[in-house]
Amino acid sequence: MSLPELPPSFYWTEASCGLVLRCRPLDAVAPHVFTTRRLALASDAAWRRVGEAVGSAHVATLTQAHGGRVVILRRGLPMAASRPEADVLVSNNPEVAVAVRAADCLPLLLGDARTGTVAAAHAGWRGTAAGAARAAVEAMMSEFGVAPGHLVAAIGPGIRPCCYEVGRELPDAFAAAGHARHLIDRWFPSRESSLRLDLQQANRHQLTAAGVPDAQIHDCGLCTAMHLDVLTSYRAEREGAGRIAGVIRSAGGSVRPPGPSPR
Ligand SMILES: [Zn+2]
Repeated sequence: MSLPELPPSFYWTEASCGLVLRCRPLDAVAPHVFTTRRLALASDAAWRRVGEAVGSAHVATLTQAHGGRVVILRRGLPMAASRPEADVLVSNNPEVAVAVRAADCLPLLLGDARTGTVAAAHAGWRGTAAGAARAAVEAMMSEFGVAPGHLVAAIGPGIRPCCYEVGRELPDAFAAAGHARHLIDRWFPSRESSLRLDLQQANRHQLTAAGVPDAQIHDCGLCTAMHLDVLTSYRAEREGAGRIAGVIRSAGGSVRPPGPSPR
């Protein structure tokens, strides 16, 4: 079978956890994958295979809450809780990969080669309204001294405006969360007389507002609801939907980060 077409910045490949998607510019920064529906994320064994794909025996995950809370993982220190409630994981620990799960929500991966800081963020409409992408960048800056101009970001598969019709109340929820109306108007295009949400555009704007150069933000362009052969969609499959994961591991970095450094 033929796989969905990708922009030149992304490619399909086989890894220990089956078919995965990788982002070429992010390859140069940190090992990472977006998994596909070929891997059911339902067992410890499956997560071990995900870890192997990025060179790690451990994968830290979250109890995702559709918000903007960030959890920090530091080199040489264990995570405070096993699956803390949050939607962003930021790490400079090369021994533990960080992952988010999604089915339509966007998995976002970020990396900075200089400090070896990485982040995985889960951003559906609530997380996007809560500013999860921006919170990820700000935590990378404040906790690990990342310069946002050095960040490389990969936007994984998620539901796109072609398939994401939303209620008229959603733009107001974004306004109530503090987003500017002129941006909200661009994030909620109208098509065929219905309102759509463009999660990719909204998250791209949040990343650029936080200082990430637009040219360093790479979008795989895949709509989950239109590629059920390789992806999985809650809108299309409801309770039967599986999850894909966005996973990234620090490559170590070339400079020592500020702050606590136990080894
Ligand atoms: Zn679509």
